[in-house]
Amino acid sequence: MNSYHPSNTIPAAGILFLLALLVFGAGLGVLTFFVSKLVYLVILFPILLGFACGFIAQTAVKIGKVRSPIVAAVFTVLMVLIMYGTVRMCEYLDFKQQLRTMIVEEYGETDQALIDEFENAVLEDETGQTGLLGFVAYEAKEGESFTRLSDTDGSSGISISGVGAYIYWFIEILIIAGIALSMVIKQARTPFCETCDRWYGGDYYFGALPMSEKETVKAAFESGVFSPITKQLHKSANLPAIGFYLNICPQCQTSDAVFTAKLLSVGSKGKINESKFKEAVIPMNTARELERVVVNNDAVSVRGGSITQTPA
Ligand SMILES: [Zn+2]
Repeated sequence: MNSYHPSNTIPAAGILFLLALLVFGAGLGVLTFFVSKLVYLVILFPILLGFACGFIAQTAVKIGKVRSPIVAAVFTVLMVLIMYGTVRMCEYLDFKQQLRTMIVEEYGETDQALIDEFENAVLEDETGQTGLLGFVAYEAKEGESFTRLSDTDGSSGISISGVGAYIYWFIEILIIAGIALSMVIKQARTPFCETCDRWYGGDYYFGALPMSEKETVKAAFESGVFSPITKQLHKSANLPAIGFYLNICPQCQTSDAVFTAKLLSVGSKGKINESKFKEAVIPMNTARELERVVVNNDAVSVRGGSITQTPA
């Protein structure tokens, strides 16, 4: 049986929301620059930025009703790159400003062209390049990201410079993009009712089987014949168990349902761990039939006459 596949539709409003992400990326970059002047925490900051980008992009995809995971992913990566580039750009402008202040303090009011010339001469001397590129190469040479951290806590800190700094920046981008992408792709892949033009309501639990039925469940999802799993299906089961969930359109309740089986087990601290096992798109009447089976089986169990009762 087929699992759910997004329609890859992007409405006009969705395109606007995706384009807005690029502006948000620049805005977040400016904000990050100002915060990072006060404090910058290695690893923690990229993780926070990943969640920030992910949350913004996920919201845009949700409100813009973007059902194309690939396009959503491309715009998210662009947003992250613009955000990261904006931080560097702000640092460069800040550097230019500081250089100007320094020169004006020393020599009085100086023509900006002369200051630019001096700046480029210094950068070219240090890195072989001028302008923003020269400045980024200069930051890499100085191992800038790390010295900023050590400035804050007053200790000497770790300093990675040169190629190491580029690798570190690349890892930062990977962390940010990785977190943001996982959030955005999940949203764009969420089931959507094309008839009612709205997202489905989300998975709700309706029944479970003992873990010993795993092979039967697997076969049922592969064949699309669900009668073999209905005999023992109950509302509750002892863990570990296979839990069954439905995701439907909250409006029409006639569009196909997304039927999911998840493996449930008790993890550390009594928390229930769940991992997706199988998924199938099934007609709404089949979904309702499965829910009725649970109610009937439970009723039989309560009367005490059933041999299909889940062992205590
Ligand atoms: Zn609907």
